[in-house]
Amino acid sequence: MTDAALEQAATNPKVGAFLAQNRKNLINNEWVDARNGGTFDVVNPATGGVIARCAASDKSDIDEAVKAARRAFENPDWAAMPPSKRARLIWKLADLIEANLEELAELETLDNGKPFSLSKMVDVMSSAEAFRYYAGYCTKIEGKTVTPSNPFQQFHAYVRREPIGVCGQIVPWNFPLLMASWKLAPALATGCTVVLKPAEQTPLTAIKLGELIVEAGFPAGVVNIVTGFGHTAGAAISSHPDIDKVAFTGSTEVGRIIAASAAQSNLKKVTLELGGKSPTIVFADADMKRTVPGLANAAFFNSGQVCIAATRLYVEKSAFDSVVEGLSAAAQAFKVGPGMAADTRMGPLVSQEQHDKVSAMIQAGLDEGAEIASGGKRVGNSGYFIEPTILVNTTQDMRVNREEIFGPVITVQPVADLDEVARLANDTRYGLAASIWTRDISRAHRLAAQIRAGSVWINCHGASDMSLPFGGYKESGWGREMGFDGIEAYTEVKSVAVAL
Ligand code: ADP
Ligand code: MG
Repeated sequence: MTDAALEQAATNPKVGAFLAQNRKNLINNEWVDARNGGTFDVVNPATGGVIARCAASDKSDIDEAVKAARRAFENPDWAAMPPSKRARLIWKLADLIEANLEELAELETLDNGKPFSLSKMVDVMSSAEAFRYYAGYCTKIEGKTVTPSNPFQQFHAYVRREPIGVCGQIVPWNFPLLMASWKLAPALATGCTVVLKPAEQTPLTAIKLGELIVEAGFPAGVVNIVTGFGHTAGAAISSHPDIDKVAFTGSTEVGRIIAASAAQSNLKKVTLELGGKSPTIVFADADMKRTVPGLANAAFFNSGQVCIAATRLYVEKSAFDSVVEGLSAAAQAFKVGPGMAADTRMGPLVSQEQHDKVSAMIQAGLDEGAEIASGGKRVGNSGYFIEPTILVNTTQDMRVNREEIFGPVITVQPVADLDEVARLANDTRYGLAASIWTRDISRAHRLAAQIRAGSVWINCHGASDMSLPFGGYKESGWGREMGFDGIEAYTEVKSVAVAL
């Protein structure tokens, strides 16, 4: 525990009160300190100041949380709760999220850095929608009856869909509340119980969500929220012998570690939503008035800290100069500043570490021969701000075109031979998303089928919806979230056969 005073960052007195107290873990519906008494500092990325302290949990805290989750999974209060009642609880949580919109959004902005208006509109409102969407599924999770062909014995046979059990959920820092909600909502809808760990950079809204979960009336132990670092608390989740499934969103590097540790411990089920290097293909016939602002947003939204960010732009040669010019003008018009300032369009990066990584990637691009069309520099002296950055004169093999940057940095490459464009787009170890911008509908659909990625958008980028399965091909992950796929990811299927 550090002794330095906390930065008084909050404008909302409720947020101020929330930040002033050391935040604890939620285990079995009780707020408890880490068993070792440790805490870690939560930093405001707009200033670098410490705004809160949270429990630095380790394996022993995860053990307690898993015990509580296992008891809750077996407790008839939850296990035998009628689906319609589960639906009402989840819906109530959505209502509480909306009722706490201002407070949750300010916590998100102070913690992550993103503009307050986006925290409200995107992070908090979409979180409420995630719970509402899956609340509707509670009463619609069905099995089926089947007709076996066994020649020696007649059977009545049916297939049940059952909750997978105790789920560990490890979420990232780019959309802290939303990623927690995407994971919690289907788990609760199916009747699972959860141990959730927010990212150490951004634990605050998950803790606030925990308060709302208790207020909504979920039975003790159904949702446990434990804060701490990846190599301690996170690793204790992925290796835990009594967790049935782990769901992770984050880097491909950590996804690999989690899959290996899940395999070595108890072969728990794994879903992974990992990195991306999403191609964006622009044809000269695209409606440029909509395309250029669309591309700027796809590239710089959330300071580029988005797994689906449009990072590699392939532009038909004849439109290349005008697209680079238009994008540069759009980038320069992006107001960079603290998320709580009303005119801010792009906030800081989440941490000094992230600022260092992104700056190093820009430098690596320059070292390999890339040129800056716009941006490239740090903004201000405090906080972790960086300009929206456009690199040109890059080649496929440069690091800036191969590695995920996770910052507001994109490359733009001209494409002379349009038959080559699918190959260029697919020339990556990732396969999360892509977008295609053209007025030629047939070409767009043909190309959409050729792209090896979990989401392809036409004349838009990042259109995400609870009804659309989301996840990655190749090294972008395992499995899908959202839609009915999200229900499947939290259920086991059981065949029951009765000899007649
Ligand atoms: P980044 O590198 O961008 O911070 P990570 O993939 O490291 O993204 O982090 C995403 C989430 O994974 C965070 O909640 C983090 O604490 C967690 N995490 C990091 N390392 C591990 C690990 N070895 N085991 C389990 N979880 C981890
Ligand atoms: Mg990491």
